[in-house]
Parts: sequence; C-alpha cells; structure tokens
Amino acid sequence: MSGSRVLVAGASIAGPALAHWLHRRGAEVTVVERAPELRPGGQAVDARGVAKEVIRRMGLEAAVRAARTETAGAYTVDAAGTVLETYRADDDGGDGYIAEIEILRGDLSRLLHDDTCDGVEYVFGDRIAELTQDADGVDVAFASGDRRRFDLVVGADGLHSALRAMVFGPRERFVRHLGMVLAFYTVPNEFGVDRWLIDYQESGRSAGLRPLPDASLAMAMLSFTAADFDVDYRDVEAQKRLLRERMAGLGWSTPRILAHLDDTPDFYLDQVAQVVMDRWSSGRVGLIGDAAYSASPMSGAGTGLALVGAYMLAGELAASGWDPKAGFAGYEERMRSYVDANQEIGQMHVQSLSAPEPDAEPSPEPDMEALTALIERAVGGPELPEYNYGHTLAGR
Ligand SMILES: Cc1cc2nc3c(=O)[nH]c(=O)nc-3n(C[C@H](O)[C@H](O)[C@H](O)COP(=O)(O)OP(=O)(O)OC[C@H]3O[C@@H](n4cnc5c(N)ncnc54)[C@H](O)[C@@H]3O)c2cc1C
Repeated sequence: MSGSRVLVAGASIAGPALAHWLHRRGAEVTVVERAPELRPGGQAVDARGVAKEVIRRMGLEAAVRAARTETAGAYTVDAAGTVLETYRADDDGGDGYIAEIEILRGDLSRLLHDDTCDGVEYVFGDRIAELTQDADGVDVAFASGDRRRFDLVVGADGLHSALRAMVFGPRERFVRHLGMVLAFYTVPNEFGVDRWLIDYQESGRSAGLRPLPDASLAMAMLSFTAADFDVDYRDVEAQKRLLRERMAGLGWSTPRILAHLDDTPDFYLDQVAQVVMDRWSSGRVGLIGDAAYSASPMSGAGTGLALVGAYMLAGELAASGWDPKAGFAGYEERMRSYVDANQEIGQMHVQSLSAPEPDAEPSPEPDMEALTALIERAVGGPELPEYNYGHTLAGR
C-alpha cells in the first residue's frame, strides 16, 4: 500500500534528503523547485556526528566521501600572516571546526538528487502559488497553472521560505538577525592558498581565504558586525560599496582581497540569520531545514540539521501511519533540542567574533562543563530510531 502522496518544495539539501526517506518508507513523492535546474554553487558544508550516521544509513557514505573537498584544516593568522592557531580536519574525531566530511553544497545537492531521481518526481522551474487544506488533503495550485491534490506538503525552501510565509506568517516574525554580515566571492589564488583555510580577525571584523577545487582560484570570506542592517538583495553594487567601506583599514591581505571585488565572477552578501518558530507544522503542512530552523552559516550545522530532520520527519510520519498530527509532533519532539543546541552555538560564534564595547565588563570564564554538554547535544544530536516501518528499498 502506498503510504501517502507528499509534495516537497525545494531541491537543495533538505528537499532531496526528505524525498529519499519518504520514498524509502513507501510514500509517493513530488519535489517542486523554483529554479529551472538544480542550483550549483555555495560554499563548503559540513556533516558531523549524527549527520554522518544518517548519510551512512542513506547508503551514501562512499559517494559523499569521494566528493569531499579535502580541506586539511584551518589556521588563524596575525596581520603579518604569522600562524596563531591551527585546527586540523581530523581534530575531535573529524567533527571539529573544519569537519572531516566537508563537501561543496552544490555537489551534495547533486548527489542527493541523483540518488532519488528514479523513484521521485522532480518538477523544476515551478512553485506553489496557492494551497488550501481540508481534513483529508491539500489542494495545490502551481504557478505554472497545474492543480494537484496531496496528502501532505513540506516546505524545504530555505531561509526565505515562501511556504512558511504562506501558511505560518510573514518572514519578520520568524527570522532573527544575529548582527553580522557575511560576504563571499571568488578571487585569483595569488595568495598561495593550498589545502588550508586561512582566517584573520580584528575587532569584530574578519577576512579569510579558503581553497577551491580549482587551485588557481580561492574563495574570499569577509565578515563585519552590524546591529541594524538592511541589505538590499538586488543592489549588488551598493553591497560591494558597503563592504569596501566596512572593511577599510583591516590588516593582513584584506586590501588585496578587496582589490578583486570588481572583477569577481560571483558575489554573495547577506545577514547572518536564524529561523525561530514555536512549531514546524500546521495541519497537513510542515517545514524542514533552513525554512523551519536555520541555525545560520555560523553554526556550521545547516546541512546536518536538514539531513537529520529528513530522516526523522519521514520516519515519524511513516511510524504514525501517515497521520500528520502524530507524525509532525514526533518529528518536532525528537529534533527540538538538537536544533536549539545548534542555534545556541551559531549565536555564540557570532558573539565571539564581535568587538567588545570599550567600557564592557570582561566576559566571565566559560563554564566548560556546560559548553561540552552543549557541543555534545549539537554534534551527537538525538538518538536515531530504526524506523522499520513502510517499505524499504532492496539493497539498502
Ligand atoms: C545557492 C545556495 C548557496 C548556499 N551556500 C551556502 C554556503 O555557502 N554556506 C552555507 O553554510 N550554507 C549555504 N547555503 C544554505 C545551505 O544549503 C543550508 O543551510 C542547508 O544545507 C539546509 O538546506 P535547505 O535545503 O534547508 O535550504 P537551502 O539550501 O536554502 O535550499 C532551499 C531550496 O529551495 C528552493 N526554493 C526557494 N523558494 C522556493 C519556492 N517558493 N518553491 C520551490 N523551491 C524554492 C531554492 O532554490 C533552494 O534550492 C546555500 C543555499 C543555496 C540554495
């Protein structure tokens, strides 16, 4: 018996990962992606602790390992370029600052898509325009004009989720800015970047370089703190001007990195933000990944949360016989503490980079026991039930 007809919005990480598990538990799955094809690009993303176990259970460990960036680690430098601290990718059992499993976001998305595209329907270049739910299902009108009915709809459409705005309320209600702005762009590798990420920090600002698969290039990463900051998403020139202004006077190789702002082939600048919601479902509609609980790039956990959330959501729905109330409630209960821990780490990371006010009291010594427990919750995550419900695909 087919479990349920499920529509998933978004085909980046959370969407295809959820499609994998829903299909494996016996659901009929459609994924609708607004972009005309899988979106390439993005920085490296990490999988640590419990997320690695989910990848193993997906049967994708070998493929993910083969696609790793092979970044050896990271070091911090002073203004003269002298190394201050070193973090190796194999520190903390591979679950440290630079994770042993680090993969370009676009590569992971492609891998998850290719793994599922045989049993799952993918519709590119379309989006949900309207939906209406009743006791038994959800009627969906697509922007293309198609109309279809599903048992469940899940939004995996990222930080700026349209489905969240449609069903739960406006963006401002759920998106929490952490007071920091991040920018990335590609530069020629005239800096001698090899397999190590380099990071320079000075009073609330940072500049860094990370290796790229094409060794003739490197990725510049710049950040500055900004309490109230309104980024205009469409005006790239204004963003570049602002970045130049805010980075002025920063030492190390920063002026040379900024000199490439006008000839870079790509440019990304955005506020560091989290999504905080009381609940991740409403009737037959649920949310997953950044749409529901973005912990921000500063947590290093967005991908892990998406992969583990996908495992839990499909498992809980199947275990409840596809009852939305019980399935969504089980998912939320299992995920909440893991999400909270990673959001707390994202906030702490931003705070640690902020310049202290001149007359501020010195920060108290960290409670190491509490910090260790927090990291354990954030990396080790929740226990993964076996979920022997529904169908399983042969050979997994
Ligand atoms: C192009 C891109 C680059 C990124 N780069 C980085 C990075 O460098 N570092 C980092 O830490 N994180 C990055 N992220 C975010 C990272 O992928 C997530 O934090 C994490 O992996 C969880 O992913 P997600 O699938 O929940 O959301 P996302 O990865 O944000 O994916 C959301 C998907 O939904 C699609 N979508 C949006 N609106 C609609 C709609 N209305 N209907 C249908 N589909 C829709 C988007 O096109 C996208 O494919 C990037 C995301 C994208 C899309």
